[in-house]
Amino acid sequence: MTYLHSSSRLFYIIFFFFKPFRIFPFLNNSQGSNMNSSLAIILAFAFLFNSTFGKPVQYSSLPQLSSRQQSLFDCLSAYNVPTELVSSPDWNSYISPYNLRLAYVPAALTLPTTPQQVSDSVTCAAAAGVKVQAKSGGHSYASFSSGGQDGSLIVDLQEFNSISVDSSTFVASVGGGVRLGNMALALYAQGQRALPHGTCPGVGVGGHFTHGGYGHDSRLWGLALDTIVAMDVVLANGTFVHVSSSNYPELFFALRGAAESIGIVTTFYLQTLAAPSSVINFSVDLSAVLSSASTVANAFLNLQNFVLTSPLVNRNISFGIYTNGNTFSLAGWYFGDQTYFTNTVLPAMLNGFPTATPTIRSLGWLDSLVNEAGGQLQEPLSGYSAHDTFYAKSIVTHNAQPLTLAALKSFWGYVINQGRSSVSPWFSIINLYGGIDSQINVQPIAPSSYADRDALWVFQAR
Ligand SMILES: Cc1cc2nc3c(=O)[nH]c(=O)nc-3n(C[C@H](O)[C@H](O)[C@H](O)COP(=O)(O)OP(=O)(O)OC[C@H]3O[C@@H](n4cnc5c(N)ncnc54)[C@H](O)[C@@H]3O)c2cc1C
Repeated sequence: MTYLHSSSRLFYIIFFFFKPFRIFPFLNNSQGSNMNSSLAIILAFAFLFNSTFGKPVQYSSLPQLSSRQQSLFDCLSAYNVPTELVSSPDWNSYISPYNLRLAYVPAALTLPTTPQQVSDSVTCAAAAGVKVQAKSGGHSYASFSSGGQDGSLIVDLQEFNSISVDSSTFVASVGGGVRLGNMALALYAQGQRALPHGTCPGVGVGGHFTHGGYGHDSRLWGLALDTIVAMDVVLANGTFVHVSSSNYPELFFALRGAAESIGIVTTFYLQTLAAPSSVINFSVDLSAVLSSASTVANAFLNLQNFVLTSPLVNRNISFGIYTNGNTFSLAGWYFGDQTYFTNTVLPAMLNGFPTATPTIRSLGWLDSLVNEAGGQLQEPLSGYSAHDTFYAKSIVTHNAQPLTLAALKSFWGYVINQGRSSVSPWFSIINLYGGIDSQINVQPIAPSSYADRDALWVFQAR
Protein backbone atom coordinates (compact mmCIF):
# COMPACT_ATOMS: atom_id res chain seq x y z
CA MET A 1 0.00 0.00 0.00
CA THR A 2 1.47 3.34 -0.94
CA TYR A 3 -1.16 5.72 0.30
CA LEU A 4 0.36 6.66 3.67
CA HIS A 5 3.59 8.29 4.77
CA SER A 6 5.89 5.73 6.31
CA SER A 7 5.42 7.01 9.88
CA SER A 8 1.66 7.18 9.52
CA ARG A 9 1.68 3.81 7.86
CA LEU A 10 3.50 2.34 10.85
CA PHE A 11 0.92 3.78 13.23
CA TYR A 12 -1.83 2.52 10.97
CA ILE A 13 -0.46 -0.99 10.90
CA ILE A 14 0.08 -1.09 14.62
CA PHE A 15 -3.18 0.44 15.72
CA PHE A 16 -5.62 -0.51 13.03
CA PHE A 17 -7.47 -2.98 15.21
CA PHE A 18 -7.24 -1.80 18.80
CA LYS A 19 -9.31 -3.67 21.33
CA PRO A 20 -11.55 -1.00 22.86
CA PHE A 21 -10.45 -0.38 26.42
CA ARG A 22 -12.72 1.86 28.43
CA ILE A 23 -10.54 3.83 30.76
CA PHE A 24 -13.30 6.42 30.95
CA PRO A 25 -16.48 4.31 30.87
CA PHE A 26 -18.72 7.37 30.95
CA LEU A 27 -17.59 8.11 27.40
CA ASN A 28 -19.14 4.88 26.16
CA ASN A 29 -22.50 6.44 25.71
CA SER A 30 -24.14 6.17 22.37
CA GLN A 31 -27.17 8.28 23.22
CA GLY A 32 -27.45 10.82 20.43
CA SER A 33 -27.26 13.87 22.67
CA ASN A 34 -23.97 12.82 24.26
CA MET A 35 -22.26 11.31 21.23
CA ASN A 36 -21.21 14.63 19.67
CA SER A 37 -19.19 15.65 22.67
CA SER A 38 -17.97 12.12 23.45
CA LEU A 39 -16.37 11.63 20.05
CA ALA A 40 -14.67 14.99 20.30
CA ILE A 41 -13.59 14.29 23.88
CA ILE A 42 -11.73 11.09 22.98
CA LEU A 43 -9.64 13.11 20.57
CA ALA A 44 -9.15 15.86 23.13
CA PHE A 45 -7.87 13.33 25.66
CA ALA A 46 -5.57 11.81 23.08
CA PHE A 47 -4.08 15.20 22.22
CA LEU A 48 -3.70 16.13 25.87
CA PHE A 49 -2.16 12.86 27.01
CA ASN A 50 0.11 12.52 24.01
CA SER A 51 1.60 15.93 24.63
CA THR A 52 1.57 15.92 28.44
CA PHE A 53 2.21 12.37 29.54
CA GLY A 54 3.49 10.63 26.41
CA LYS A 55 7.01 10.27 27.78
CA PRO A 56 8.65 6.97 28.72
CA VAL A 57 8.48 6.25 32.43
CA GLN A 58 11.82 5.36 34.04
CA TYR A 59 11.91 2.19 36.09
CA SER A 60 12.78 2.79 39.70
CA SER A 61 15.06 0.09 41.00
CA LEU A 62 14.23 -1.96 44.06
CA PRO A 63 17.65 -2.32 45.66
CA GLN A 64 16.54 -4.42 48.62
CA LEU A 65 13.94 -7.13 48.84
CA SER A 66 10.96 -6.23 50.96
CA SER A 67 9.81 -8.82 53.48
CA ARG A 68 6.89 -9.64 51.19
CA GLN A 69 9.21 -10.16 48.25
CA GLN A 70 11.48 -12.28 50.40
CA SER A 71 8.66 -14.58 51.51
CA LEU A 72 7.40 -14.78 47.91
CA PHE A 73 10.87 -15.65 46.67
CA ASP A 74 11.41 -18.22 49.45
CA CYS A 75 8.14 -19.93 48.53
CA LEU A 76 8.91 -19.94 44.78
CA SER A 77 12.40 -21.31 45.49
CA ALA A 78 10.94 -24.08 47.63
CA TYR A 79 8.73 -25.14 44.72
CA ASN A 80 11.58 -24.74 42.16
CA VAL A 81 9.61 -22.27 40.05
CA PRO A 82 11.94 -20.46 37.60
CA THR A 83 11.97 -16.89 38.92
CA GLU A 84 13.49 -13.56 37.90
CA LEU A 85 14.22 -10.89 40.53
CA VAL A 86 15.43 -7.30 40.35
CA SER A 87 19.00 -8.63 40.66
CA SER A 88 18.62 -10.83 37.52
CA PRO A 89 20.71 -9.67 34.54
CA ASP A 90 17.73 -9.66 32.15
CA TRP A 91 15.29 -8.12 34.64
CA ASN A 92 14.53 -4.97 32.62
CA SER A 93 14.03 -6.93 29.43
CA TYR A 94 11.60 -9.34 31.14
CA ILE A 95 9.50 -6.72 32.89
CA SER A 96 9.26 -4.14 30.07
CA PRO A 97 5.67 -3.88 28.85
CA TYR A 98 4.79 -2.96 25.26
CA ASN A 99 3.55 0.47 26.36
CA LEU A 100 6.48 2.06 28.16
CA ARG A 101 4.29 4.94 29.35
CA LEU A 102 2.99 2.57 32.03
CA ALA A 103 6.09 0.66 33.15
CA TYR A 104 5.40 -0.93 36.53
CA VAL A 105 8.03 -2.65 38.67
CA PRO A 106 6.89 -6.10 39.83
CA ALA A 107 7.99 -7.83 43.01
CA ALA A 108 9.14 -10.80 40.91
CA LEU A 109 8.47 -12.56 37.61
CA THR A 110 8.09 -16.30 37.16
CA LEU A 111 8.73 -18.24 33.96
CA PRO A 112 6.74 -21.45 34.57
CA THR A 113 7.13 -24.36 32.20
CA THR A 114 4.24 -26.48 33.54
CA PRO A 115 0.70 -25.81 34.81
CA GLN A 116 1.92 -27.00 38.24
CA GLN A 117 4.46 -24.16 38.28
CA VAL A 118 1.73 -21.68 37.30
CA SER A 119 -0.29 -23.04 40.22
CA ASP A 120 2.72 -22.76 42.56
CA SER A 121 3.24 -19.15 41.41
CA VAL A 122 -0.37 -18.31 42.27
CA THR A 123 -0.36 -20.00 45.68
CA CYS A 124 3.00 -18.45 46.64
CA ALA A 125 1.76 -14.98 45.64
CA ALA A 126 -1.44 -15.48 47.64
CA ALA A 127 0.51 -16.68 50.68
CA ALA A 128 2.83 -13.63 50.49
CA GLY A 129 -0.08 -11.20 49.95
CA VAL A 130 1.19 -10.19 46.51
CA LYS A 131 -1.11 -9.43 43.55
CA VAL A 132 -0.57 -11.94 40.72
CA GLN A 133 -1.10 -11.34 37.01
CA ALA A 134 -0.59 -13.40 33.86
CA LYS A 135 1.49 -12.04 30.99
CA SER A 136 1.09 -13.41 27.47
CA GLY A 137 2.16 -11.01 24.70
CA GLY A 138 2.44 -7.99 27.05
CA HIS A 139 0.42 -5.75 24.68
CA SER A 140 -2.13 -4.51 27.21
CA TYR A 141 -2.57 -0.77 26.51
CA ALA A 142 -2.52 -0.09 30.24
CA SER A 143 0.23 -2.64 31.07
CA PHE A 144 -2.19 -4.75 33.09
CA SER A 145 0.04 -7.79 32.52
CA SER A 146 2.68 -5.97 34.60
CA GLY A 147 0.11 -5.92 37.39
CA GLY A 148 -1.21 -2.43 36.60
CA GLN A 149 0.69 -1.32 39.72
CA ASP A 150 4.14 -1.80 41.28
CA GLY A 151 4.89 -4.81 43.49
CA SER A 152 2.93 -7.60 41.73
CA LEU A 153 4.01 -11.07 40.67
CA ILE A 154 4.07 -11.44 36.88
CA VAL A 155 3.47 -14.99 35.66
CA ASP A 156 5.12 -14.83 32.23
CA LEU A 157 3.68 -17.55 29.97
CA GLN A 158 6.31 -17.42 27.23
CA GLU A 159 7.24 -21.09 27.79
CA PHE A 160 3.64 -22.09 26.97
CA ASN A 161 4.29 -21.78 23.26
CA SER A 162 3.10 -25.02 21.63
CA ILE A 163 0.59 -25.01 18.77
CA SER A 164 -0.95 -28.20 17.38
CA VAL A 165 -4.04 -28.86 15.26
CA ASP A 166 -6.10 -32.04 15.73
CA SER A 167 -6.35 -33.54 12.26
CA SER A 168 -9.91 -34.84 12.74
CA THR A 169 -11.65 -32.03 14.69
CA PHE A 170 -9.38 -29.19 13.47
CA VAL A 171 -9.38 -27.88 17.04
CA ALA A 172 -6.02 -26.20 17.75
CA SER A 173 -4.34 -26.47 21.15
CA VAL A 174 -2.49 -23.19 21.63
CA GLY A 175 -0.27 -22.36 24.62
CA GLY A 176 -1.26 -19.30 26.68
CA GLY A 177 1.94 -17.42 25.78
CA VAL A 178 1.80 -17.81 21.98
CA ARG A 179 1.96 -14.65 19.84
CA LEU A 180 -0.53 -14.18 16.97
CA GLY A 181 2.04 -14.22 14.15
CA ASN A 182 3.56 -17.52 15.26
CA MET A 183 0.08 -18.99 15.71
CA ALA A 184 -1.04 -18.00 12.21
CA LEU A 185 2.07 -19.55 10.64
CA ALA A 186 1.71 -22.81 12.60
CA LEU A 187 -2.01 -23.17 11.87
CA TYR A 188 -1.44 -22.68 8.17
CA ALA A 189 1.44 -25.17 8.19
CA GLN A 190 -0.84 -27.78 9.83
CA GLY A 191 -3.50 -28.21 7.15
CA GLN A 192 -3.95 -24.61 5.92
CA ARG A 193 -6.06 -23.69 8.93
CA ALA A 194 -6.85 -20.19 10.19
CA LEU A 195 -8.52 -18.23 13.00
CA PRO A 196 -10.00 -14.74 13.20
CA HIS A 197 -7.64 -12.34 15.04
CA GLY A 198 -5.93 -8.95 14.91
CA THR A 199 -3.09 -7.68 12.80
CA CYS A 200 -0.14 -7.23 15.14
CA PRO A 201 1.97 -10.45 15.15
CA GLY A 202 3.45 -9.62 18.56
CA VAL A 203 0.11 -9.56 20.40
CA GLY A 204 -0.38 -12.59 22.67
CA VAL A 205 -3.29 -15.02 22.59
CA GLY A 206 -3.73 -14.69 26.38
CA GLY A 207 -5.05 -11.14 26.31
CA HIS A 208 -6.37 -11.17 22.75
CA PHE A 209 -8.60 -14.26 22.87
CA THR A 210 -9.97 -13.48 26.33
CA HIS A 211 -10.98 -9.87 25.55
CA GLY A 212 -12.51 -10.10 22.06
CA GLY A 213 -9.87 -10.10 19.34
CA TYR A 214 -10.86 -8.32 16.13
CA GLY A 215 -9.43 -8.56 12.63
CA HIS A 216 -10.59 -8.14 9.03
CA ASP A 217 -11.88 -11.72 9.25
CA SER A 218 -14.16 -10.97 12.21
CA ARG A 219 -17.23 -9.81 10.29
CA LEU A 220 -16.89 -13.14 8.43
CA TRP A 221 -15.95 -15.51 11.28
CA GLY A 222 -16.63 -13.64 14.54
CA LEU A 223 -14.14 -12.52 17.15
CA ALA A 224 -11.14 -14.57 18.25
CA LEU A 225 -12.99 -15.21 21.52
CA ASP A 226 -15.85 -16.88 19.65
CA THR A 227 -13.56 -19.70 18.51
CA ILE A 228 -12.72 -20.87 22.07
CA VAL A 229 -14.15 -24.35 22.69
CA ALA A 230 -12.23 -25.07 25.92
CA MET A 231 -9.39 -23.85 28.14
CA ASP A 232 -6.96 -25.35 30.67
CA VAL A 233 -6.93 -22.91 33.57
CA VAL A 234 -5.20 -22.37 36.90
CA LEU A 235 -7.73 -20.78 39.24
CA ALA A 236 -7.10 -18.29 42.03
CA ASN A 237 -6.90 -21.08 44.61
CA GLY A 238 -4.25 -22.87 42.56
CA THR A 239 -6.45 -25.68 41.23
CA PHE A 240 -6.04 -26.70 37.59
CA VAL A 241 -9.21 -27.33 35.60
CA HIS A 242 -10.32 -28.07 32.04
CA VAL A 243 -13.11 -25.59 31.26
CA SER A 244 -15.68 -25.90 28.47
CA SER A 245 -19.36 -25.11 27.92
CA SER A 246 -20.27 -28.40 29.64
CA ASN A 247 -17.39 -28.56 32.17
CA TYR A 248 -17.55 -25.55 34.54
CA PRO A 249 -19.98 -23.53 32.38
CA GLU A 250 -19.84 -20.49 34.71
CA LEU A 251 -16.06 -20.34 34.34
CA PHE A 252 -16.43 -20.77 30.58
CA PHE A 253 -18.75 -17.75 30.60
CA ALA A 254 -16.53 -15.59 32.81
CA LEU A 255 -13.14 -16.38 31.30
CA ARG A 256 -14.28 -15.30 27.84
CA GLY A 257 -14.29 -11.54 28.48
CA ALA A 258 -12.81 -11.23 31.97
CA ALA A 259 -10.10 -13.91 32.28
CA GLU A 260 -7.64 -12.00 34.42
CA SER A 261 -10.21 -11.76 37.20
CA ILE A 262 -10.77 -15.52 37.17
CA GLY A 263 -7.63 -17.52 36.41
CA ILE A 264 -4.62 -18.09 34.16
CA VAL A 265 -5.27 -19.91 30.90
CA THR A 266 -2.33 -22.20 30.13
CA THR A 267 -3.82 -23.75 26.96
CA PHE A 268 -6.59 -22.58 24.64
CA TYR A 269 -8.59 -25.04 22.50
CA LEU A 270 -9.70 -23.14 19.41
CA GLN A 271 -11.98 -24.20 16.55
CA THR A 272 -9.98 -23.38 13.44
CA LEU A 273 -11.40 -22.74 9.96
CA ALA A 274 -10.12 -23.51 6.49
CA ALA A 275 -7.93 -20.60 5.36
CA PRO A 276 -9.36 -18.94 2.22
CA SER A 277 -7.25 -19.53 -0.87
CA SER A 278 -7.33 -15.80 -1.65
CA VAL A 279 -8.43 -12.53 -0.08
CA ILE A 280 -9.11 -9.24 -1.89
CA ASN A 281 -6.99 -6.56 -0.17
CA PHE A 282 -8.13 -3.02 -0.95
CA SER A 283 -7.22 0.54 0.05
CA VAL A 284 -8.15 3.99 -1.16
CA ASP A 285 -6.91 7.48 -0.27
CA LEU A 286 -9.97 9.70 0.18
CA SER A 287 -8.22 12.67 1.79
CA ALA A 288 -9.98 15.12 -0.55
CA VAL A 289 -13.12 14.55 1.53
CA LEU A 290 -11.51 16.49 4.40
CA SER A 291 -12.17 19.78 2.55
CA SER A 292 -14.77 20.63 5.22
CA ALA A 293 -16.42 19.05 8.26
CA SER A 294 -19.74 19.10 6.46
CA THR A 295 -18.35 17.29 3.38
CA VAL A 296 -16.72 14.49 5.35
CA ALA A 297 -19.67 14.16 7.75
CA ASN A 298 -22.11 13.71 4.87
CA ALA A 299 -19.84 11.21 3.12
CA PHE A 300 -19.46 9.22 6.34
CA LEU A 301 -23.23 9.27 6.81
CA ASN A 302 -23.64 7.78 3.31
CA LEU A 303 -21.13 5.07 4.20
CA GLN A 304 -22.99 4.34 7.42
CA ASN A 305 -26.29 4.07 5.51
CA PHE A 306 -24.58 1.71 3.07
CA VAL A 307 -23.38 -0.72 5.75
CA LEU A 308 -26.74 -0.63 7.53
CA THR A 309 -29.09 -0.90 4.55
CA SER A 310 -27.44 -1.94 1.26
CA PRO A 311 -28.25 -5.41 -0.15
CA LEU A 312 -24.60 -5.48 -1.32
CA VAL A 313 -23.36 -5.70 2.27
CA ASN A 314 -22.72 -9.06 3.89
CA ARG A 315 -20.16 -10.73 6.14
CA ASN A 316 -17.62 -10.88 3.30
CA ILE A 317 -16.64 -7.22 3.58
CA SER A 318 -14.50 -5.58 6.25
CA PHE A 319 -12.80 -2.19 6.43
CA GLY A 320 -11.40 0.53 8.65
CA ILE A 321 -10.69 4.24 8.24
CA TYR A 322 -7.51 6.04 9.27
CA THR A 323 -7.32 9.79 9.78
CA ASN A 324 -4.84 12.23 11.27
CA GLY A 325 -6.68 15.38 10.28
CA ASN A 326 -4.92 15.64 6.92
CA THR A 327 -5.31 12.06 5.67
CA PHE A 328 -8.50 10.04 5.27
CA SER A 329 -7.84 6.53 4.00
CA LEU A 330 -10.04 3.48 3.90
CA ALA A 331 -8.70 -0.07 3.67
CA GLY A 332 -9.95 -3.60 4.18
CA TRP A 333 -10.58 -7.10 2.94
CA TYR A 334 -13.23 -8.67 0.73
CA PHE A 335 -13.82 -12.43 0.58
CA GLY A 336 -15.23 -13.08 -2.89
CA ASP A 337 -14.96 -12.25 -6.56
CA GLN A 338 -12.56 -9.40 -7.36
CA THR A 339 -14.43 -8.17 -10.45
CA TYR A 340 -17.76 -8.03 -8.63
CA PHE A 341 -16.15 -6.20 -5.72
CA THR A 342 -14.31 -3.74 -7.97
CA ASN A 343 -17.20 -2.92 -10.29
CA THR A 344 -20.20 -3.23 -8.00
CA VAL A 345 -19.54 -3.27 -4.25
CA LEU A 346 -16.75 -0.71 -3.84
CA PRO A 347 -18.28 1.99 -6.09
CA ALA A 348 -21.57 1.75 -4.17
CA MET A 349 -19.72 1.88 -0.87
CA LEU A 350 -17.76 5.02 -1.82
CA ASN A 351 -20.71 6.73 -3.46
CA GLY A 352 -20.63 9.79 -1.18
CA PHE A 353 -16.87 10.38 -1.49
CA PRO A 354 -14.83 12.34 -4.07
CA THR A 355 -13.61 10.13 -6.91
CA ALA A 356 -10.38 8.31 -6.09
CA THR A 357 -8.42 5.38 -7.52
CA PRO A 358 -8.34 2.38 -5.21
CA THR A 359 -5.58 -0.20 -4.97
CA ILE A 360 -7.12 -3.67 -5.21
CA ARG A 361 -5.22 -6.95 -5.26
CA SER A 362 -5.84 -10.59 -4.53
CA LEU A 363 -3.40 -12.20 -2.07
CA GLY A 364 -3.11 -15.60 -0.45
CA TRP A 365 -4.01 -16.02 3.24
CA LEU A 366 -0.54 -15.65 4.74
CA ASP A 367 0.38 -12.84 2.35
CA SER A 368 -2.77 -10.99 3.42
CA LEU A 369 -1.71 -11.31 7.07
CA VAL A 370 1.80 -10.16 6.21
CA ASN A 371 0.34 -7.21 4.31
CA GLU A 372 -1.73 -6.19 7.34
CA ALA A 373 1.21 -6.69 9.70
CA GLY A 374 3.45 -4.59 7.50
CA GLY A 375 6.20 -7.18 7.92
CA GLN A 376 6.93 -10.77 8.85
CA LEU A 377 4.66 -12.87 11.07
CA GLN A 378 7.40 -14.80 12.85
CA GLU A 379 8.11 -13.50 16.37
CA PRO A 380 10.85 -14.54 18.82
CA LEU A 381 9.85 -17.05 21.52
CA SER A 382 11.79 -15.05 24.12
CA GLY A 383 13.47 -11.65 24.25
CA TYR A 384 10.60 -9.81 22.54
CA SER A 385 11.80 -6.22 22.28
CA ALA A 386 9.18 -4.12 20.42
CA HIS A 387 7.85 -1.20 22.49
CA ASP A 388 5.96 2.03 22.11
CA THR A 389 4.94 4.95 24.32
CA PHE A 390 1.38 6.12 23.92
CA TYR A 391 -1.97 7.14 25.33
CA ALA A 392 -5.05 5.74 23.58
CA LYS A 393 -8.78 6.10 24.04
CA SER A 394 -11.67 4.36 22.33
CA ILE A 395 -15.43 4.43 22.08
CA VAL A 396 -18.02 2.05 20.62
CA THR A 397 -21.16 3.15 18.79
CA HIS A 398 -24.11 0.84 18.29
CA ASN A 399 -26.06 -0.51 15.33
CA ALA A 400 -29.28 0.37 17.09
CA GLN A 401 -28.25 4.04 17.35
CA PRO A 402 -26.40 5.06 14.19
CA LEU A 403 -24.37 8.26 14.31
CA THR A 404 -26.32 11.41 13.48
CA LEU A 405 -25.16 14.05 11.03
CA ALA A 406 -24.73 16.43 13.99
CA ALA A 407 -22.44 13.95 15.81
CA LEU A 408 -20.40 13.38 12.68
CA LYS A 409 -20.02 17.12 12.03
CA SER A 410 -18.87 17.60 15.61
CA PHE A 411 -16.31 14.79 15.35
CA TRP A 412 -14.95 15.76 11.95
CA GLY A 413 -15.00 19.46 12.83
CA TYR A 414 -12.80 18.66 15.82
CA VAL A 415 -10.50 16.50 13.67
CA ILE A 416 -10.07 19.25 11.09
CA ASN A 417 -9.99 22.33 13.33
CA GLN A 418 -8.22 21.22 16.51
CA GLY A 419 -6.54 18.10 15.08
CA ARG A 420 -4.56 19.83 12.38
CA SER A 421 -3.02 22.26 14.86
CA SER A 422 -2.24 19.68 17.55
CA VAL A 423 1.33 20.03 18.84
CA SER A 424 1.86 16.27 19.06
CA PRO A 425 1.22 13.62 16.41
CA TRP A 426 -2.04 11.73 16.76
CA PHE A 427 -4.39 9.65 14.68
CA SER A 428 -7.79 8.05 14.85
CA ILE A 429 -8.86 4.63 13.55
CA ILE A 430 -12.51 3.82 12.88
CA ASN A 431 -13.29 0.12 12.35
CA LEU A 432 -16.56 -1.36 11.14
CA TYR A 433 -17.65 -4.06 13.59
CA GLY A 434 -21.36 -4.11 12.76
CA GLY A 435 -23.63 -3.55 9.78
CA ILE A 436 -25.64 -6.14 7.88
CA ASP A 437 -24.67 -9.79 8.47
CA SER A 438 -21.74 -9.09 10.82
CA GLN A 439 -20.78 -12.35 12.50
CA ILE A 440 -19.47 -10.40 15.49
CA ASN A 441 -22.96 -9.31 16.39
CA VAL A 442 -24.76 -12.49 15.40
CA GLN A 443 -23.54 -13.97 18.70
CA PRO A 444 -26.00 -13.42 21.53
CA ILE A 445 -24.58 -11.62 24.56
CA ALA A 446 -25.53 -14.33 27.05
CA PRO A 447 -22.91 -17.08 26.38
CA SER A 448 -19.89 -15.01 27.44
CA SER A 449 -18.90 -12.08 29.65
CA TYR A 450 -17.80 -10.15 26.53
CA ALA A 451 -20.67 -7.73 26.08
CA ASP A 452 -19.99 -5.69 22.90
CA ARG A 453 -22.40 -7.52 20.59
CA ASP A 454 -24.16 -4.55 19.04
CA ALA A 455 -21.11 -2.51 18.04
CA LEU A 456 -21.34 -0.60 14.76
CA TRP A 457 -18.14 1.50 14.74
CA VAL A 458 -15.18 1.34 17.09
CA PHE A 459 -13.42 4.73 17.22
CA GLN A 460 -9.92 4.86 18.62
CA ALA A 461 -7.72 7.89 19.08
CA ARG A 462 -4.07 7.90 19.89
C1 LIG B 1 0.34 -2.78 18.83
C2 LIG B 1 -0.99 -3.36 19.19
C3 LIG B 1 -1.79 -3.87 18.19
C4 LIG B 1 -3.04 -4.41 18.49
N1 LIG B 1 -3.81 -4.88 17.48
C5 LIG B 1 -5.02 -5.38 17.79
C6 LIG B 1 -5.87 -5.87 16.77
O1 LIG B 1 -5.54 -5.86 15.58
N2 LIG B 1 -7.12 -6.34 17.12
C7 LIG B 1 -7.53 -6.36 18.43
O2 LIG B 1 -8.65 -6.81 18.71
N3 LIG B 1 -6.73 -5.90 19.41
C8 LIG B 1 -5.50 -5.41 19.12
N4 LIG B 1 -4.71 -4.95 20.11
C9 LIG B 1 -5.18 -5.03 21.49
C10 LIG B 1 -4.79 -6.40 22.08
O3 LIG B 1 -5.58 -7.41 21.51
C11 LIG B 1 -5.03 -6.39 23.60
O4 LIG B 1 -4.25 -5.38 24.19
C12 LIG B 1 -4.70 -7.74 24.21
O5 LIG B 1 -5.22 -7.80 25.51
C13 LIG B 1 -3.20 -8.00 24.25
O6 LIG B 1 -2.97 -9.34 24.57
P1 LIG B 1 -1.53 -9.75 25.14
O7 LIG B 1 -1.59 -11.16 25.56
O8 LIG B 1 -0.47 -9.33 24.20
O9 LIG B 1 -1.46 -8.79 26.39
P2 LIG B 1 -1.01 -8.96 27.92
O10 LIG B 1 -0.53 -7.60 28.28
O11 LIG B 1 -0.04 -10.07 28.09
O12 LIG B 1 -2.35 -9.32 28.64
C14 LIG B 1 -3.46 -8.47 28.60
C15 LIG B 1 -4.41 -8.82 29.76
O13 LIG B 1 -4.82 -10.18 29.64
C16 LIG B 1 -4.41 -10.93 30.79
N5 LIG B 1 -3.92 -12.22 30.33
C17 LIG B 1 -2.91 -12.44 29.46
N6 LIG B 1 -2.73 -13.74 29.27
C18 LIG B 1 -3.64 -14.38 30.03
C19 LIG B 1 -3.94 -15.74 30.25
N7 LIG B 1 -3.27 -16.71 29.63
N8 LIG B 1 -4.93 -16.05 31.13
C20 LIG B 1 -5.63 -15.06 31.76
N9 LIG B 1 -5.39 -13.75 31.58
C21 LIG B 1 -4.40 -13.41 30.71
C22 LIG B 1 -3.30 -10.12 31.43
O14 LIG B 1 -3.18 -10.38 32.83
C23 LIG B 1 -3.75 -8.70 31.14
O15 LIG B 1 -4.72 -8.29 32.06
C24 LIG B 1 -3.47 -4.41 19.83
C25 LIG B 1 -2.66 -3.89 20.84
C26 LIG B 1 -1.43 -3.36 20.52
C27 LIG B 1 -0.58 -2.78 21.61
